[in-house]
Amino acid sequence: MNAPIKNDRIEWLQGPSADGAAKCSSVPAGRKNPWRLVLLGAPGVGKGTQAELLTERLGACHLSTGDVFRAASKRKDCDQSPAMVAALDYMRRGELVPDSTVWEMVRERSHCILGCGGFILDGFPRTLGQAESLKELMETESIALSAVVNYELPLDEIVERLSGRRTCEQCKAVFHVTERPSKGGAICDRCGGRLYQREDDRPESITVRLEAYERSTAPLIQFYRNLGVLTPVVAKGTPDEILGRTMKGLDRANDRVKTA
Ligand code: AMP
Repeated sequence: MNAPIKNDRIEWLQGPSADGAAKCSSVPAGRKNPWRLVLLGAPGVGKGTQAELLTERLGACHLSTGDVFRAASKRKDCDQSPAMVAALDYMRRGELVPDSTVWEMVRERSHCILGCGGFILDGFPRTLGQAESLKELMETESIALSAVVNYELPLDEIVERLSGRRTCEQCKAVFHVTERPSKGGAICDRCGGRLYQREDDRPESITVRLEAYERSTAPLIQFYRNLGVLTPVVAKGTPDEILGRTMKGLDRANDRVKTA
């Protein structure tokens, strides 16, 4: 197994707007068979938590488009491009950001996807258009996805997870008011930061996000099934249980590739 990796993802989070010297503190070294994963599933199924755990296990970079938008929202207004200001408005309402803005943002960070350490994409692609753009980019570089993990959970459990979710302002650790509470109440157990409810985890945004998922993202399940890379995983239970199921699914995906 590869050594655990702590990657601050500066190049992904800040993109070309980062000052030229900003480099990730720990870039995965080139590997012979890097993992190139997409995590699919409705908002709230736990993709972000699994992406962090998988990063430690597999050593690939956790690339979340939602994290890029949240990082941009913390910058001063004058440091935000007009496209980013518009994108953040979509995000606050729980709507999908238009494909052209998302793709521009991903394209200018494409070295994070094409690097030899592999990646775990979380929250991207979210539409067929984005999936096609990613496919084209990877084909141009003659690289392929190792697997697309689809996390499955019934709708009522998703709503319950989203509305109780609390996130640490500083280290981004995710808690749940009843299922996974922080011992410090509104203070993060890990770093002492303040826990808050994401704007888009409020009830009025949750409905909009789930509708956007059904309309735009659910069709990706069939898209990736047709490509023969879909790995379904039941997203019930503790993060470690779900991780165990994911690893088994990835083993099977690996066997499929070897026998193909
Ligand atoms: P997430 O953290 O992945 O749930 O993303 C939070 C919000 O950012 C979403 O509700 C969208 O408004 C926006 N967003 C993130 N990734 C994408 C994407 N690939 N396409 C469109 N909108 C996105």
